[in-house]
Amino acid sequence: MGKKQLVQWMLEHEPLYEDLALQIWERPETAYEELFASSLLSSVLEEAGFRLRRGIGGIPTAFVAEYGSGGPVLGILGEYDALPGLSQKVSAEREPVTPNGPGHGCGHNLLGTAGVEAAVALKHRLEAEGIAGTIRYYGCPAEEVLSGKTFMAREGVFDDLDAALTWHPGSQNTPWSTPTSALTSVELHFHGRAAHAGGAPHLGRSALDAVELTNIGANYLREHVPDGSRIHYTITNGGVAPNIVPDAASVWYYLRGANREAADELLARLLKIAQGASLMTETEMGWEIKGGAYSLNVNHSLNALLTRQKDAAQAPSFSEEDRRLALSLVDTLEPAQKEAALAKALKLGLPEGELLPAGFSEPGPAGGPPSGGSTDLGDVSWITPVGQIITTCAPVGIQVHTWQASAAFGSPIGLKGMHYAARLIALAAYELLTDRGEGLAQARAEFLASTRGRSYVPAIPREVLAPVPEPVRGGGRA
Ligand SMILES: [Zn+2]
Ligand SMILES: [Zn+2]
Repeated sequence: MGKKQLVQWMLEHEPLYEDLALQIWERPETAYEELFASSLLSSVLEEAGFRLRRGIGGIPTAFVAEYGSGGPVLGILGEYDALPGLSQKVSAEREPVTPNGPGHGCGHNLLGTAGVEAAVALKHRLEAEGIAGTIRYYGCPAEEVLSGKTFMAREGVFDDLDAALTWHPGSQNTPWSTPTSALTSVELHFHGRAAHAGGAPHLGRSALDAVELTNIGANYLREHVPDGSRIHYTITNGGVAPNIVPDAASVWYYLRGANREAADELLARLLKIAQGASLMTETEMGWEIKGGAYSLNVNHSLNALLTRQKDAAQAPSFSEEDRRLALSLVDTLEPAQKEAALAKALKLGLPEGELLPAGFSEPGPAGGPPSGGSTDLGDVSWITPVGQIITTCAPVGIQVHTWQASAAFGSPIGLKGMHYAARLIALAAYELLTDRGEGLAQARAEFLASTRGRSYVPAIPREVLAPVPEPVRGGGRA
């Protein structure tokens, strides 16, 4: 009965949340600059009667909104940062709204809004039925730089959760069953001695040489690391002119491994290489940890709980116009990619030429290797059981972090997937609050078995502060 009313309320209030998601889509803000999105979503929650805590972890765009009292305490996680360079109109031609501007190519305009939609809907059920428990919405900034939730976790804001639920826009409805890689983001800085590169090279000590020797060492390291490791870098400072021996140079690395320990081990080995390079070049070496996400500890019990709501949540129905946009977006792909998309859609059981799955697909195999990508959601998944679902917000074959994805996530396709995700999360949370603790006990047992008593220690050192740009720290527009 309560579930029916929950869905009914959500169907009646869809326009409000569509408006929020589109406002955020139209005003994309990149990591740590999400002033508009965070104040929009937090004010909706505040007006709905949630208690607000802002500025979590020293980040003006991070907040926690809470409703209800006592246990169980359920978290719903939202994100709202955009990606640089992915500005795009809702069009199947490459047409940025702002040339080189940011855009919502990962659909976080939908991700953040669906969580608010679910949280407010649940609040109405808690109130109407006198259900005990606390609903908490976490406004999590800066997922795209993989550190927002780590800074929040450092403040302990996830510690008392019984479970957390979230989702991600994608191109099918399915539980997120693949673990992600743990990551260390580290920038190495070398300092040498400048000199005239032509007139007095013997007086110079090149910091750039140290960067290059480090990279050579790291490339030799690749053969001797566990399968699934990833090492990638970019030179962030290579000096200023060829005729000046560079006295300062920097290189930024992402090191990824199957779990936190593997990523830590890679860092220890990279630092030895960098120290070797500094010895060889008579330069000084320092390093700066910029991020340290955990691998994603998938909770299959919560994922199954989310999946079980698929019928009660009422799958989206895509229109002729949605189908046309889907086809024309996939038409922009390279021929081989397009062929793969059409083949995958057939495999998912869609009729020929259809690219928008409304039904659920089987999850990928449990216990497989990590995906290679990383997310700071990993951190939360080692603190509390996390369930995560993916819904159809873009056509099959369209990858997130592309301009085609930005277009889909601002279109009715994205909005329909967003509402479906919101209903799945709200229904699953409702069940956790009303099943006398059965679902939570199951999720907790799986969590305890998968963490085996290992406690979460944030991988970003205490002294490293969130890289909030000055105008945002000051409360103004970035
Ligand atoms: Zn992303
Ligand atoms: Zn994302």
